[in-house]
Amino acid sequence: MNQSSYLLSNDQLLEVFNLTHTATAVHVGETAIIQAANDAMLRIWGKDRSVIGKSLEDALPELKGQPFIEMFRKVWLEGLVISGKDTAADLEIDGKIQTFYFDFEYRAVKDDGGKTICILHTAIDVSERVLRQEALEREREKAEALEREQALNEELAATVEELAATNEELVATNEELQETQETLHVLNNELELRVLERFNQLSESEKRFKTMAEGTDIFIGVGDENGNAVYFNKSWTDLTGKSIETLLGFGWVNLVHPEDRDKYVNVYLSAFEEKKAFTGELRILNKHSQYQWLLASATPRFDADGSFAGYISSCVDITERKLIELERLNLSKLIEASSEFIGLVELDLSIQYLNPAAIQKLGWKSIANRTILDCVFPDDRATAELLLPGILHNQNFREEIRFWNEETGKPFWIEWNGFAIKNEANDEVIAMATVSPDITERKIYQEELQAINMEMAAANEELATTNEELAQTHEDLIQYVNRLSDSEEKLRQAIETGRMGTWSIDPKTLEISMSGFVKALLGLPLDQPAAMEAVMQAINPEYHDMLNSALENALKNHSSSDTEYSINNLLTGEEKWVRATGRVFVDQHGNATEYSGLFIDITEQKLDELRKNDFIGMVSHELKTPLTAINGFVQVLQRKAKKDEDNYAIIALDKAHSQIRKMTTMINGFLNVSRLESGKLLIEKTDFNLEELLKETIEETYISQSSHQITLNTTCDVTIHADRDKIGNVISNLISNGLKYSDNGTKIEVSCKLSDTEVEVQIKDEGIGIKPDDIDKLFERYYRVQGNHTISGFGIGLYLSAEIIERHHGKIWAESEEGKGSVFHFTLPLK
Ligand code: ADP
Repeated sequence: MNQSSYLLSNDQLLEVFNLTHTATAVHVGETAIIQAANDAMLRIWGKDRSVIGKSLEDALPELKGQPFIEMFRKVWLEGLVISGKDTAADLEIDGKIQTFYFDFEYRAVKDDGGKTICILHTAIDVSERVLRQEALEREREKAEALEREQALNEELAATVEELAATNEELVATNEELQETQETLHVLNNELELRVLERFNQLSESEKRFKTMAEGTDIFIGVGDENGNAVYFNKSWTDLTGKSIETLLGFGWVNLVHPEDRDKYVNVYLSAFEEKKAFTGELRILNKHSQYQWLLASATPRFDADGSFAGYISSCVDITERKLIELERLNLSKLIEASSEFIGLVELDLSIQYLNPAAIQKLGWKSIANRTILDCVFPDDRATAELLLPGILHNQNFREEIRFWNEETGKPFWIEWNGFAIKNEANDEVIAMATVSPDITERKIYQEELQAINMEMAAANEELATTNEELAQTHEDLIQYVNRLSDSEEKLRQAIETGRMGTWSIDPKTLEISMSGFVKALLGLPLDQPAAMEAVMQAINPEYHDMLNSALENALKNHSSSDTEYSINNLLTGEEKWVRATGRVFVDQHGNATEYSGLFIDITEQKLDELRKNDFIGMVSHELKTPLTAINGFVQVLQRKAKKDEDNYAIIALDKAHSQIRKMTTMINGFLNVSRLESGKLLIEKTDFNLEELLKETIEETYISQSSHQITLNTTCDVTIHADRDKIGNVISNLISNGLKYSDNGTKIEVSCKLSDTEVEVQIKDEGIGIKPDDIDKLFERYYRVQGNHTISGFGIGLYLSAEIIERHHGKIWAESEEGKGSVFHFTLPLK
């Protein structure tokens, strides 16, 4: 047959559980919620099934103030088994509180993991047996009292008998001694009286003991020779809220705290063997279900015949003292475990106590023969010596100071709190305590912060100096521009006062004629017509090509010309700078009749300009060095700020970085102008993809400014042969202008047009636009549109761009409609 067919179903199991005669219940949780209870248990409780699911306290409110609910809690929390015999419990049956006696067991049932899952509660009602025993006990006591009385009677009878015998003897011995007999009678009477007195005295003393015991708040109990308690005074019943009957015998043991129970009962029982006085401390459950500490002292009792009769015990409440002791213990544990520096110092500065953390910090082995000054780092001892005497005058102190580890020689910072300890009786200072947290880490952090602040201040100063320098440069530049206009003014005066010459070329014969001023300048004989060869000889060969093509162009296109070049006076060899402006005059048929113009000495102006260029070049170069250093510092600070997650610094440094970029671009612009003017702007061509360069440049622009939407159309995928950096500068400059001269949020469109021979790049904005009058002058050096001066700039970006494009044999131009936007174009030839 299958094993499982013997197994009962849950219902069947419950039924069996219900039928068991042993009262059984199952509880769960700290409040002993009744999970199940069989009929026998319900009978004991005097309740019906409605108690299932309730906590024990809700189900049986009368249990409040009795120890059982607390026992359940302990069993649940600690997984114990608690059992008791003949234990009294007050239960409400039929509306009346009655005392019953039980043998009971509360057993924690655990799962495989050892966790308590329920409490199995079994109880057997032994009230009848206990009550019967008590009745018997009372009978026995009565019988004993009777016996004692009988014994006393017998003693008396014996005494009387003895007296009678003596009497008889006396009568027999000397009848003559009648008087003596009488005396004996008196004696007899006296003796009787004394016996009676003694008897009275005995019961009197018992009465006195009881009266005394009942009248005191000391807890008094009496035990017999077997340890059974036979008497407890009222203090005991008051304390425990229990009836005398509950406490008698070994009933009191149930009220002893489980942790003290075994120990105390052992002391108690082993005292019986030696029959000597003993003392012990124990916790007793009081009527408020709280434990109270008692100090018990017991002295042995002996009967008149010297036989051991048990103990009389007296207990006093020491709860308060115990709590203080416990507090002290916790406090000293706390001090021992504290990581702060804690110590007690005598007035002669010798150390009385240091906690382990302090000893370890100091690297000491012991505190013997040490003073508090030994703790202090030698450099800080003078400070310590100033502070310490204050304690004598009750001046507590708090000072950040260095102590040191003697082993390693290393100092550590603490916040030294010293305060006076006083004799409570006379308020006299008797020692100093110190409780001092280690603040080394905070100090290090503070120092670091200070160092960073100093670095920042230094960087700020450098920045300020650079700013000043820049402002100065700006001033200088303005002065130069002013001087430039001065030179122009002078030039005008020169023309007005005749300090200029004229020249003329015959378009047909190419014969040249010139005024005396020009001849003198070139070092040609004044009295002869000028010969073209001699003129060309005076002109710096570097400019021959330029002049030839200007001549060709003028004659061919009838356009005017404006050229600048250097000459060497043929007589003196002196170098001079000249400017020749020319115009072609035509007849009514449109044929050129004359190509003529002015010839002006611009040496002074030119030299001025060259000096200015040199100056700009030098200044720009000098500015670059501190700017590079600032840039370096800013980058270091940026990394640090990112590491420290200092958001304010991150933003501020980002701004600083973008300003530095701006400044770098400006300075590079000036450097390039100066290079250009002195013929040092080199073009280094390589092959590269135009679209990639455009993308890169747009991305870079986005990094420093994301106020506009910049789009790129994708037809620029072409390889060109050019100076990648310089073309990059041109694109960047045109895009920057687009951003600068248009409102935030508008669009910048970059696009390309490809043909067989060239690529054209267009940069279109939706900005303020340019007036037609200005549009041709934009590419001149330092030219800025009037009225745009609130927008920062130097008027060199387009000038440089034009020069760069020209050196690539490309073209650059602008189209614009005022108020609507501009398009800047440049072309580059394809190979
Ligand atoms: P700046 O540094 O003054 O901008 P540029 O050489 O870049 O020097 O430009 C010269 C002048 O041309 C500017 O001052 C400005 O008046 C005008 N300009 C340049 N680009 C634009 C543009 N996209 N829209 C309107 N005006 C422009």
